[in-house]
Amino acid sequence: MDQRQQIKNALQLCIDKRKDELHALSWDIWSRPELAGEETRAHDRLVHFLSQDDPAWTVQSCYKLPTAFRASWGPVGGGAGYPVLNVAFLCEYDALPGMGHACGHNLIAEITVLGTPAEEDIGGKIELIKAGAFADIDLVFMAHPAQQDASFLPCVALDEVSVKYYGKASHASAYPWDGVNALDAAVLAYNNISVLRQQLKPEWRIHGVIKHGGVKPNIIPAYTELNFYLRTPLLKELCDLKAKAEACFRAAAVATGCQVEMTYPPNTFCNILPNATLANLYEMNGKELGIQFPKEPANFSGSTDFGNVSVIVPGIHPFFYICTNALNHTEEYAEAAGGEKAQLYTLRTAKALAMTAVDVVCCPEVLRQVREDFSLAKLKQEK
Ligand SMILES: [Zn+2]
Ligand SMILES: [Zn+2]
Repeated sequence: MDQRQQIKNALQLCIDKRKDELHALSWDIWSRPELAGEETRAHDRLVHFLSQDDPAWTVQSCYKLPTAFRASWGPVGGGAGYPVLNVAFLCEYDALPGMGHACGHNLIAEITVLGTPAEEDIGGKIELIKAGAFADIDLVFMAHPAQQDASFLPCVALDEVSVKYYGKASHASAYPWDGVNALDAAVLAYNNISVLRQQLKPEWRIHGVIKHGGVKPNIIPAYTELNFYLRTPLLKELCDLKAKAEACFRAAAVATGCQVEMTYPPNTFCNILPNATLANLYEMNGKELGIQFPKEPANFSGSTDFGNVSVIVPGIHPFFYICTNALNHTEEYAEAAGGEKAQLYTLRTAKALAMTAVDVVCCPEVLRQVREDFSLAKLKQEK
């Protein structure tokens, strides 16, 4: 048996041996969900887990962000004959408002070691990129719970816009002509966007809510607020969608006589760049462990801050089935993510990811291919 296979077998045994501990860790995070940026307990629990018994680990808590961490392992200078590579496994552990772990991040936390918080909100990985946390990383691996096993599913670019209309209050019955109706502006904006949809490309998405719609029927609303998400398959297409959406928001202000204010959060989520070599290796290793990959994977179009990482470091972000037909971001999915049945699928995914890392670390030719795929995907993205 070659050395690569020996390492793969050993790592599978290692995960199997610690499966109860890993389940307890994931369950602990699941049972006390914390929102994006507030994951202090999950952070402490993961840091403690990684620091506990092996002196080869160097664990840095609160790494560049209050609830991020970094745990490094490895002989100084790398193994004899192999390239010195810094391989990072990323983990998420933030929950959703009012729903707990409905995206299954407690399962991701079980298998990985660069702690990257706040995926569901500001995009913690983007903040970590800005802080230089990925500067010395050669490869990144992460996997995310979903409805099926897939080495790659399209994750689209995302921007968020907050739209505020300022009008003028007045008595809605006695002096309506004295008012400037900000709710009318919000309703027109919502309808303008609905009309715009017919003219958008099939993969483009725009969806929103009215966050503030007025106070009382007898007061002409002086202030309203909407929140929209804009998504396109490629980052560069977002500018076009933003321009179209902004025209809709402005038109509503002109029609009603309101003032409009549009603001964007600092972080734009990028689409994930594919890496064919890593994806093929992941599938090969996964099949060895009994993972079945559908011939035609779903055309998923969520977004993740891993996209921004995939543009600066070669990596993969496969998806995995957790034994439920429920959809992410529902209460049923949260329940499945905390259940016993999800464990087999999570640990199997952990093994396939680790085996894929072994394939790259042990073979300079594979590493060369991975880097070539990365350069090609970047060129395509920028063209
Ligand atoms: Zn998620
Ligand atoms: Zn999510």
